[in-house]
Amino acid sequence: MISFVGAGPGDVDLITIKGRRRLEKADVVIYAGSLVSEKHLDFCKKGCCLYNSASMTLEEVIEKMEEASKKGLHVVRLHTGDPTIYGAIREQMDLLEEKGLDYEIIPGVSSFTAACSSIKREFTLPEVSQTVILTRIEGRTGVPQKEDLEKLASHKASMALFLSIKEIDRVVEKLKKGYGREDVPVAVVYKATWEDEKIIKGTLLDIKDKVEKEGITKMAQILVGDFINGDYERSKLYDPEFSHEYRRGSK
Ligand code: SAH
Repeated sequence: MISFVGAGPGDVDLITIKGRRRLEKADVVIYAGSLVSEKHLDFCKKGCCLYNSASMTLEEVIEKMEEASKKGLHVVRLHTGDPTIYGAIREQMDLLEEKGLDYEIIPGVSSFTAACSSIKREFTLPEVSQTVILTRIEGRTGVPQKEDLEKLASHKASMALFLSIKEIDRVVEKLKKGYGREDVPVAVVYKATWEDEKIIKGTLLDIKDKVEKEGITKMAQILVGDFINGDYERSKLYDPEFSHEYRRGSK
């Protein structure tokens, strides 16, 4: 069996119980070395074969998976955060399907929710935003024109930007145009949940300088929106005046 497992954002205890069990049982682990904490590998059994996919091509990864699974071995493909977000797992799954090899996906805690927890905020606040946009600015990988950052920002929803910190100056320019203001709150979370996590808070006006001063150029979430600072309405769910299926209120 081949298991794609979400390792979570960094802290080894943020993997799911199911994911940890797969790791403990694995005969072969192929992990995304640049982003996954090596501490996860301490949970593997003795004799487990470990491969760092950072230095491998897609074909080499698939070859290792095929070889092992044909011998009836347990394979774990360990991805950072949740594998279904910027995990490049679709191309792996398609090749496995072509070869008739069975696989499963075990979700993980994505870095966007981990980063929001680190800053102790909630993305979805009544009357502020009930939508979270997960996106990135184009880099070596393009982004469809219809999803240009400026267009997405014009919705003024809460946003979490992956893979974009290196381009913080272009990000800020597009967000300013999209949101139509410069005082929109921004939090940059570097290595959320790792021991060397850093949080930088500011607005579209000053975040670029702050990020550059800290020298952050990778592994960061850029969280944007009024959910970070400002007013909101209380939720109806816990409002004493409102009744719902599980609780009778005063009205
Ligand atoms: N599947 C992963 C994302 C992989 S893409 C997930 O669900 O989180 C890699 C990008 O994710 C990085 O460029 C960075 O923007 C973000 N990222 C991954 N781990 C992070 C962490 N611990 N803290 C902040 N951002 C992180």
